[in-house]
Amino acid sequence: MVLNLQREMEKFKPDCPVEYGTPLAPYTTFRVGGPAEVLAHPRNVEELARLVRFQKEAGVPLTVLGGGANVVVSDRGIRGLVVHTGKLHGIRHEGTTLYVAAGTPISEAAAYAADHDLGGLAFIYAMPGSTGGAIWMNARCYDGEIAPILEKTRYLSLEEHDFCTVGTYQTRREEFGYKISPFQRGTRVILEATFRLTPGRRSLLWEEMRDHEEDRRRKGHFLAPCAGSIFKNNRAFGAPSGRIIDQLGLRGRQHGGARVSDLHGNIIVNHGNATAREIRELVEYVQQQVELERGIRLEPEILFLGEWDR
Ligand SMILES: Cc1cc2nc3c(=O)[nH]c(=O)nc-3n(C[C@H](O)[C@H](O)[C@H](O)COP(=O)(O)OP(=O)(O)OC[C@H]3O[C@@H](n4cnc5c(N)ncnc54)[C@H](O)[C@@H]3O)c2cc1C
Repeated sequence: MVLNLQREMEKFKPDCPVEYGTPLAPYTTFRVGGPAEVLAHPRNVEELARLVRFQKEAGVPLTVLGGGANVVVSDRGIRGLVVHTGKLHGIRHEGTTLYVAAGTPISEAAAYAADHDLGGLAFIYAMPGSTGGAIWMNARCYDGEIAPILEKTRYLSLEEHDFCTVGTYQTRREEFGYKISPFQRGTRVILEATFRLTPGRRSLLWEEMRDHEEDRRRKGHFLAPCAGSIFKNNRAFGAPSGRIIDQLGLRGRQHGGARVSDLHGNIIVNHGNATAREIRELVEYVQQQVELERGIRLEPEILFLGEWDR
């Protein structure tokens, strides 16, 4: 393990923009989180591959951050190398096949598709986050899901045997599930998605997308910083997690600057100057209350990144 990562990084001379000790809060939709020891913004696969080789040699952890829409970064921040994918950006299409670079907001991909009379991605318009993050989470909403339209995924391998080579994963539907994708094993950085879309009508697609956006607005998704749903739903629990939380009267419950949304039990918002710790403690409080009252354990959908005092 290197003792002074910044010094080593400066010797290594990365060819992409790199920052040291930059707070990650602005990179997350919760707007909380301490600094990244090193935050790098690769613009292409070559820059990313060089960074990953350096990270492996230095023996420091690697964290990939997309749109930061499903994470809580700890107040102490993240050690090692954080790769932000925002500059891996671009969309093109050939016929009904859409190619989207991993850092491109998935909502932008849906808008591009609609503008080119391509249907299949409208369901996800206005959902925050990157295309890589949407694949990683197998994001879903409004009766749609990423896996059925995802044909292939280009990735950079982090596996020992083919370290730093670019590969193509052909979607196998059985490897995806509810908020599950094969990329959660953490052995690949997603570079580009190939979506198999269908011919559609621009005006109708935009009508559908505006409806979804309006519905999210009504549900208060954009009123305060948040990360969407906190807990996964589980059919075996008999009701969606949000309803169970509502039934226990936990809507509006506040802990420091973190608050269970007044509009939806399964959303926690940063109500002011919340810390990551307050958000995590409120998540755990809700989880404990549900377990106490109902005997079921809700599983968080959001991810806690970085160093936590437990
Ligand atoms: C207001 C709001 C509404 C939301 N509504 C929905 C919804 O309806 N449905 C839904 O499913 N989600 C929803 N979410 C959650 C979030 O939008 C999705 O989970 C989204 O897919 C996360 O993408 P991201 O790029 O922000 O990922 P991040 O939060 O940055 O990262 C999530 C995980 O993906 C990994 N990752 C990201 N990019 C890559 C990559 N290129 N290669 C490898 N790993 C990668 C990260 O390492 C991390 O483990 C909502 C969030 C908000 C804030």
